[in-house]
Amino acid sequence: MLNIVLFGPPGAGKGTQSERLIGRYNLVHLSTGDIFRANIKGETELGLLAKSYMDKGNLVPDEVTINMLKSEVSKHENAKGFIFDGFPRTNAQAEALDAFLASIHSGITMMVGLEVAENELRERLKKRAEVSGRPDDANPEVIRNRISVYNSETAPVKDYYEKQGKYVAVDGIGSIDDITNRLYAAIDTI
Ligand code: AMP
Repeated sequence: MLNIVLFGPPGAGKGTQSERLIGRYNLVHLSTGDIFRANIKGETELGLLAKSYMDKGNLVPDEVTINMLKSEVSKHENAKGFIFDGFPRTNAQAEALDAFLASIHSGITMMVGLEVAENELRERLKKRAEVSGRPDDANPEVIRNRISVYNSETAPVKDYYEKQGKYVAVDGIGSIDDITNRLYAAIDTI
């Protein structure tokens, strides 16, 4: 299996780039944020719970997120691999993902990190708010919190994969096509 963690702060372009990667490598795209938003739309119990965290820009608790992710992976028995977008976001999630993939005789192939400076992220999120309809993009206070949560809880996940020799950095500034080509080049080194 080719299992890629697409990593980066809010606004780095993970969703946009994931859509391109799935076509080229024939992977299943699992975005925990998208799954939570679908649950909010469907007014499920999980959606209601997730919303209370997402609206503030906080992380949904690990246990809830991990269980949801496992159940999504299990829905795709014949997948050639996955792009994990927005997951793992804590070291506990990374450890749980490793253990789960090991239990199905698989593992993470690599983490590709889209690196974008913080001032650029703020600009992108402000622009995205005009089209995304996402309440967590529209509120500057929530954006600040999401970036701060990223720095304190999620950034360490990069070290987790770096220690395993699996982290590859990709410059996330430039045109969407340029960034896609950099991602292809990084992934094609495997
Ligand atoms: P995203 O679409 O990846 O920007 O995620 C939007 C929001 O969903 C985040 O700010 C979190 O509240 C929640 N979320 C998404 N993925 C995770 C995760 N792996 N762990 C915890 N919360 C998450």
